[in-house]
Amino acid sequence: MKPFAYARARNIEDAVGLLRDNPHAMCIAGGTTVVDLLKEGVFQPDLLVDVSRVAQDAIAVFDDRIEFGALARMNDVADHAQVAAAFPAVAQALAASASPQLRNMATIGGNLLQRTRCVYFRDLLTPCNKRVRGSGCSAIGGWNRQHAVLGTSDHCIAAHPSDLAVALVAFDAHVQIAGAGAARAVLLTDFYSEPGETPDVENTLAHDEVITGVVLPRSAAAGHSAYLKLRDRASFEFALVSVAAGLSIADGLIAHARIGLGGVATKPWRAYDAEGALIGQPANERTFKAAAEAALAGARGYGHNDFKIPLAQRAVERVLTSLVAPT
Ligand code: SF4
Repeated sequence: MKPFAYARARNIEDAVGLLRDNPHAMCIAGGTTVVDLLKEGVFQPDLLVDVSRVAQDAIAVFDDRIEFGALARMNDVADHAQVAAAFPAVAQALAASASPQLRNMATIGGNLLQRTRCVYFRDLLTPCNKRVRGSGCSAIGGWNRQHAVLGTSDHCIAAHPSDLAVALVAFDAHVQIAGAGAARAVLLTDFYSEPGETPDVENTLAHDEVITGVVLPRSAAAGHSAYLKLRDRASFEFALVSVAAGLSIADGLIAHARIGLGGVATKPWRAYDAEGALIGQPANERTFKAAAEAALAGARGYGHNDFKIPLAQRAVERVLTSLVAPT
């Protein structure tokens, strides 16, 4: 591991100043991803800015929304009764993430900024455009069973690893961001970037900005939602395919629909075309099948991951069916 300096930020302004003054600084909070990547040599900062004590861990409940501080622990949000009632898919996505030990340490902000699990990204001996721009992509033509089928480019096909982000993009969450300039809020769908020609750029966060919180607006579809995660083993595993979905139904027709996909895309994926196929239609098998096909209409497999396309279609149908099943 390359040696680095360490500084503990007293507050957000302190953290922003430390980042601004050192172009090779990076933040650490729970440390559940950063420490691994430091040890593997993928991260080589000059300065580690510890933001774990800046008091941004509150969960606040309002009539029209719930807000989490960026330093709220994953388990604290997953176990929050009002999150589970108003956003079942969000609570389920968190509960399906990582392991209990990791969820007790990992923060919401860190979860949203976690890096891909592409094995080549973590192997300094292989080319990877996300780690070193212009070096090549070892997964295209290599082992790509875990990789994305949506939002890919000729430069990167890595899947985004977060479960939480999939549920948050489905339900129109915003991230709150602080930096040297004015604080800003960004729709999470717009926060993340597809890889294009610059897979090393994953989101709109500037070097001297930090995520301070998440705002999750209440809606009828969010209140009637579910998260399905399909993976190689039942726990402590990343998704091959995941779906966050919510529906509201009025007079026998679907009034509102939200669908997010994970494990299959280079960023947490909002399936707008699938939502369009649902709205105004009866909630039945035929409608759900059409939505599932629309969700994956632009997908492209790379060999080992071809199976994800039909698997994701079946997962979309299954979640939607579960939302209208008699209880
Ligand atoms: Fe690197 Fe992306 Fe290719 Fe993986 S898929 S090797 S992260 S460029």
